[in-house]
Amino acid sequence: MHVIDAHCDTLLAMCEKKEDMQYSYDKVKTLKMPYLQFFAMFCPPSILSYEDGYDKSVNLLSQMMNLYDKMTDEHSYIKVLGIKDIIAFEETKEDSYPSVFSLLSIEGVYLSKGDLSYVDYLYSKGVRCLSFTWNPSNEFAQGVNGNTGNGLTVLGKNALKKCNNLGILIDVSHANDKTFYDIAALSEKPFVATHSNSRHVCSHKRNLDDDMLKTIARSGGLAGINYFSDFLVEKEKNRVADINDIIKHIEYMSALTGTKHIGLGSDFDGIDKSAIKNVTKVSDIINALLKLNYSEEEVRDICSGNMIRILKEVMQDG
Ligand SMILES: [Zn+2]
Repeated sequence: MHVIDAHCDTLLAMCEKKEDMQYSYDKVKTLKMPYLQFFAMFCPPSILSYEDGYDKSVNLLSQMMNLYDKMTDEHSYIKVLGIKDIIAFEETKEDSYPSVFSLLSIEGVYLSKGDLSYVDYLYSKGVRCLSFTWNPSNEFAQGVNGNTGNGLTVLGKNALKKCNNLGILIDVSHANDKTFYDIAALSEKPFVATHSNSRHVCSHKRNLDDDMLKTIARSGGLAGINYFSDFLVEKEKNRVADINDIIKHIEYMSALTGTKHIGLGSDFDGIDKSAIKNVTKVSDIINALLKLNYSEEEVRDICSGNMIRILKEVMQDG
């Protein structure tokens, strides 16, 4: 089974020299399956309020880019930069491992200083998936924190067009509802929530309500299941989520939109309470789905096929 995980915070965790990572090359290779990991660059926006905060953030971002290059070189990852790379992933034989692929993404674009060409810069650095904001707002859009009446700015609308043209996949995981619907109205390509669950199953503003899930499905996109306990079970239940909660969200979403609009977005190394311990346990999700009423093809779609379809639609050749 091929697997695509649309979000982890491993690059920041590497910068912070965290121990016992939830995703690592050594762990993923034990899975013995072709694996494409999206690596998000996340500079906490709070750093901008420090003295020299902008320069510190620029340094952190370039540190993450360098770590990404170093890691992918060292372990011969194939970087997904265009359609041919996603086809290479698709065509990788299941029994050829370790077969590791990577896609560079950015979670929140806070360093543009309002300059649209910053998006071109990110593209030139290999970024192929982008969310305009993390939780707080910026020049492009409003995140889940703050004014619920604000959505995409004029700059944000132009940036969205640019992303559509360049072949950068748009991620709405941290967008507020207004930004979400602005993107839905304007995007000419499928868009995704890389790491967000069902708000009906677990009421959290980082999750998506039924209409949002249907809207993503209409665009041709997907929502990637996040393994973070707080997005899987309500806080009042006072327990850490487990694999059954992951399955509950998948079951709910597949009843709502079908299996063509669901993916995986672990949030590994950005979460302390994970429903599965680390990347070595992804096979538990696959096995749990296969035990239920899902055909092998449907499980393949959820684990990788849907994202393959979307990336082929969004990215450019080459
Ligand atoms: Zn996130």
